[in-house]
Amino acid sequence: MQCVAYYRGHSRFRIGEKRISAKLITKFRYYTITEPNRIPREQHPISRAKISPGALKVLYALKDAGYEAYMVGGGVRDLLAGIEPKDFDIATSAHPDEIKRLFRSCRLVGRRFMIAHIRSGDEVLEVTTFRGAITDNHERDETGRILSDNVYGTLEEDAFRRDFTINALYYDIRDFSIVDFAGGIDDLNRSSLRLIGDPELRYREDPVRMLRAIRIANKLGFTISPETAEPLPRLAALLREIPPARLFDEILKLFLSRDAVANFDGLRAYGLFGELFPGTEAAVSAAKRDLELVRIALANTAARIAREATVTPAFLYGALLWPPYADRVYELEVEQGHPEAAAQVQAAEEILAQQQRRIAIPKRFSLPMREIWTLQPRFEDRRPGRAKRLLTHPRFRAAYDFLLLRAEAGEPGCAELADWWTKAQTGVFAALPAGEAAPAPKGNEGGAAPKKRRRRGGRNRRNGSDAAGA
Ligand code: ATP
Ligand code: MG
Repeated sequence: MQCVAYYRGHSRFRIGEKRISAKLITKFRYYTITEPNRIPREQHPISRAKISPGALKVLYALKDAGYEAYMVGGGVRDLLAGIEPKDFDIATSAHPDEIKRLFRSCRLVGRRFMIAHIRSGDEVLEVTTFRGAITDNHERDETGRILSDNVYGTLEEDAFRRDFTINALYYDIRDFSIVDFAGGIDDLNRSSLRLIGDPELRYREDPVRMLRAIRIANKLGFTISPETAEPLPRLAALLREIPPARLFDEILKLFLSRDAVANFDGLRAYGLFGELFPGTEAAVSAAKRDLELVRIALANTAARIAREATVTPAFLYGALLWPPYADRVYELEVEQGHPEAAAQVQAAEEILAQQQRRIAIPKRFSLPMREIWTLQPRFEDRRPGRAKRLLTHPRFRAAYDFLLLRAEAGEPGCAELADWWTKAQTGVFAALPAGEAAPAPKGNEGGAAPKKRRRRGGRNRRNGSDAAGA
């Protein structure tokens, strides 16, 4: 099986603030040269017992109504790779309005390309109509990104619209065979992640595929094939074209995951991390901070997910943005002499505003994140009255966990403080030496630690519903 993409032309494009040279794809199409490979039921390990009841119900209902229906994507890929799928995606010849007529619990979502969400018990099945082949009629921006995508097609056309070969395997509900148009089975056997078609073209169509490459390769323990990996550093800046709300979702998939640390390392290795978190990358490149705190936070997150404990984006973003935040507080407070509380507010606003240009962090996460930050200096005040008040603060637990993180990352003074607050919670609070204040961490390494102690205004009284999964 071979897939060919045609393109011609050459031009220079503007990507964000950078001008880069790129191929201009003015005309191309994919075509298949041979028939797809069909793997009959007896030659593959996917049994219906491994497919969720909801997915089976939807597949059968579509088939019985006379449509083509296949399980596709992560469901097939993960089952073949021997891991439990996160969800089951379905592709069908039925159009969205036809799907809606068949299922009472169906909701149509998406503007560019309509997707049907069908609820079945606790499950939500994502059902997509076969996408049509890419043509010159698809609206694109100047970087090659596809903007309009509302043409329906055949199973074969749909296969070549998918990103990686291993994501383009279709489980046919009629005879339980697997249909492979793009060589996905061979790549699965080789543990190789490979884009279908010309890699640069496919990343330009949708730069989020760069993030998916890292995530899916780590999830399966696969290697990204050399041709698929090569364009990543060159095209990293294309991530600036992606709407920040979409990136928020993708970041959660990367970091609220068992593979959080491997995903972080992968993003950094290919130069993608700096496009997502420019402030953090700059703080690290300026050699003011290392990324130990971020790495430990991600490792903790992964461990919590592994034992099915709760995790929250507020804590995660608090860690990811701590390096630039702590630097900025230091600049404002220590170097420029702003009052501590004002320095914290200004630093948080600046860092958040800068970050929101890339990734849209909803307020329900950014507010508790800021609170976790601003509670940090309050751990230094160990006078009994103040300490007792802090212990009952709704965000105490999340802020304390963050202090532990700073201690583990080796921030000066934090280990001793963390130890004191650990004991303070065990009920022997009164027995602890309380009168004297703890020594404040010195210098820039201490991060947002202030030297003065005074009551901060505007204590937040919101409840702790978003508290870091403590
Ligand atoms: P998981 O669900 O485990 O995160 P997945 O591959 O199933 O991985 P989904 O986002 O559920 O990811 O997408 C389902 C399928 O849709 C993919 O397997 C792929 O075939 C197709 N797909 C998703 N995103 C893209 C994309 N950006 N470009 C092309 N195809 C895509
Ligand atoms: Mg999926």
